Amino acid sequence: MSEFGSNSSVTDSYDEYVMPIWKSLDVPVERAHGCTLEDFDGNEYLDAFSGISVTNVGHGNDAVVEAATNQLERFVHGCSYVHPNEPVASLAETIADVSPGDLQKSFFCNSGTEAVEGAIKLARKYTGSTEVVALEMGFHGRTLGSLALTGNNAYKREMAPALNDVFHAGAPYGYRCPRCEGERCTPSCADDIEHVIGTHTSGDVAAVVVEPVMGEAGIIVPPDGWLERVQEIAHDHGALLVCDEVQTGYGRTGELFASAHFDVEPDILTQAKGIANGLPLGAFTASEAVADAFDAGDHLSTFGGNPVACASALATIDQLRGGIVENVREQGRWLESELDSLEGAHDAVGQTRGLGLMWGIELVDPEKTGPRGVAPAPDADLAASVRDHLRDESGVVIGVGGYYKNVLRLQPPLSMTRDQLQRVVEALERALE
Ligand code: PLP
Repeated sequence: MSEFGSNSSVTDSYDEYVMPIWKSLDVPVERAHGCTLEDFDGNEYLDAFSGISVTNVGHGNDAVVEAATNQLERFVHGCSYVHPNEPVASLAETIADVSPGDLQKSFFCNSGTEAVEGAIKLARKYTGSTEVVALEMGFHGRTLGSLALTGNNAYKREMAPALNDVFHAGAPYGYRCPRCEGERCTPSCADDIEHVIGTHTSGDVAAVVVEPVMGEAGIIVPPDGWLERVQEIAHDHGALLVCDEVQTGYGRTGELFASAHFDVEPDILTQAKGIANGLPLGAFTASEAVADAFDAGDHLSTFGGNPVACASALATIDQLRGGIVENVREQGRWLESELDSLEGAHDAVGQTRGLGLMWGIELVDPEKTGPRGVAPAPDADLAASVRDHLRDESGVVIGVGGYYKNVLRLQPPLSMTRDQLQRVVEALERALE
């Protein structure tokens, strides 16, 4: 439990009755609105992490609250998939409308990890193959199936994943890529997937699963052409491309879906997190031809696509399309130039990278040697202390992540204003001093 945010019966109860989640929890929240969190002592914080890209249109968003409340009043007991209802129908139609290409049919569940596992089932049924290729640094969830796809072994601990036949290829992590020179990968970095299929699998591959911009790995943006090449490799081997947009979906990168930046239409698209602005909802979407591989009963979830969450998603998407994605592009351009300056001014900032309002700041110790004997070393302690400084001295909440836990993560609500972002950047500058 964090020593931070003093009080209260909440933190005590977490210690006693809630299974451990994070090593140190962040600000305990009494209430939240827009981009502001308030703790139990009445302290306010500017939220630049949005619960890991969840509250995209802001905490307690009025239109989302209204949509959820209206839906609750209409039928409380109908919170299940069993009875066809209007919010599920409208949301499925809306997703078909906003999704790339001919992605048309959706299956609704409750979370990202379920969306990923469902997508794998669908890819297996459609292709008749079983093997799956994912990326070494990728993150796709922590239930046993999705954990098998998650490439970072640090998440696996001693718990053996349940899904067999999963193989991992190198990620386009240009800053420390063993295959590429300089600080950027090239599209041919994707050829490691070809290599893994050729040397590790039996060739019977159902899906290649990637995040178009990697989140938990430390905000890794692949070079143009990389995702296209990944799809080409997948298709050459009769496999589907699954784009896991659980973290990048719904406006985060300045497009409704990050795959649009790379002109790629995935075969299956997974979504969750920001889709309903905090209500539990996940989905995976495929073309009619792929989706129809499922027979009725092949996949089901009692609470999947509950009408209250679907109504909230409709209100969320409506606002995203009504100007918020435009705000992401505008603020993202500004943030990019501010972070470039930060990189130039501080030796401890190894690289800044991102798209829209999804940014990573890689902190390093230039005096030390890092993985594979290459300097500079990742500096996880510095990242943790910068995060704590921001929170305690400036009242700004950010995330820390990345494969080496040395990446500061800025993923604010997408409605964040320039003034608020400026406050975040100024606080960062002070913390890095
Ligand atoms: N996929 C990606 C890309 C994610 O970032 C996450 C969560 O961070 C998941 C899947 C798992 O989502 P959930 O925590 O909703 O199960």
